[in-house]
Amino acid sequence: MTDAPWRRAARGALLLDADGVARPTIFAEMSALAAATGALNLGQGFPDEDGPTELLETARDAIASGVNQYPPGLGMPVLREAIARHQQRFYDLEVDPDREVLVTAGATEALAATLLAFVEAGDEVVTLEPVYDSYAAVIALAGGRHVPVPLAAPDFRPDPEALRAAVTDRTRIILLNTPHNPTGAMLDAGLLDLAIELAHRHDALVVTDEVYEHLVFDGRVHVPAATRPGAHGRVITISSAGKTFSTTGWKIGWLTAAPTLRDAVLAVKQFLTYVNGAPFQPAVARGLDLPDAFFRDAAATLEGKRDLLSAGLRDAGFAVSRPSGSYFVIADAAPLGVHDAEEFCRRLPALAGVVGIPLTAFVHPDRRGPYRSLVRFAFCKRVEVLREAADRLAAIRV
Ligand code: PMP
Ligand code: GLN
Repeated sequence: MTDAPWRRAARGALLLDADGVARPTIFAEMSALAAATGALNLGQGFPDEDGPTELLETARDAIASGVNQYPPGLGMPVLREAIARHQQRFYDLEVDPDREVLVTAGATEALAATLLAFVEAGDEVVTLEPVYDSYAAVIALAGGRHVPVPLAAPDFRPDPEALRAAVTDRTRIILLNTPHNPTGAMLDAGLLDLAIELAHRHDALVVTDEVYEHLVFDGRVHVPAATRPGAHGRVITISSAGKTFSTTGWKIGWLTAAPTLRDAVLAVKQFLTYVNGAPFQPAVARGLDLPDAFFRDAAATLEGKRDLLSAGLRDAGFAVSRPSGSYFVIADAAPLGVHDAEEFCRRLPALAGVVGIPLTAFVHPDRRGPYRSLVRFAFCKRVEVLREAADRLAAIRV
């Protein structure tokens, strides 16, 4: 078989090993390690409890009442309308449910379809690194060039000058993520304004991944790029039900964008999955219409879990970041005498019965130096699991 360009690029992005065999994602690898060892899985970011009963009941009712065939290609009207109401209620954004919304198979498909729609071979995509693994993968599949802006510990905020330097006329997409996985950092309005200004200047698009939009702490307010001046026609906003409603296995995501942008993504999306998740779509619509108190409580509960795990990690001797949002906290194992978090994470199930993910998994091998001793732990787990994990970590002797 000839070596297709995407295979070469995918090897470069470490999706394939030297023999062209697909590597498991870091999340799959670490969840398998947790399952094999019986360790507490603070690796892959998924909750270990169900979300609101209203959603679960609506999905069950939908299956029982025959909502089991292909939904419309754009997504069911009931969900597109709920997405538009959600953008209005939380962000005062006017979104046309028929022309400006697309339902996707999770945020993952929204990201993939968007990158495949706009990135031509050789085009550059600017991201914030450490970076969510699917971004580098799909940039490679599209034949694009990945241009990362580094985020430095402990607060992981991008340097505006580094963003300015990264964006050029070769840039097609500035791909931002706020709140950010893996670091939990949030982007402020000034940085979003700069991204939009640069997108105008260089004829690029700003794509924002906002899957943790409701999971923010310490009274912080999530700012969608779409609310900023100059956003119209330049910004594509991506989100998902998975994190907000603890339904990561349902894979219902969406994007909102001006009609021409939405239609360009639809052209690709219809040949990726075509559609997905019919009975889950009315259920997520129900979720998006839940009262404000649900969203407030979800964030407050998760903030308590962040504090619980962070305190446990600190007591165990780690230096701990303070994430403003997301499911994740970054712990520096250097004070424990650990300088290779990859090796440490491989030993952690045996050492402590806990799984975490080395931050280097989110960084290209050429740039891993500053992140060597850092570990990402997920705190979207039951309180008793977090307590047990903290106790076990406190007992380790490296
Ligand atoms: N983007 C980020 C930043 C994520 O953390 C995740 C999943 N954890 C996704 C996208 C994918 O979302 P989904 O499961 O809806 O495809
Ligand atoms: N987004 C989840 C995480 O960051 C994992 C999703 C996946 O396994 N692809 O842990």
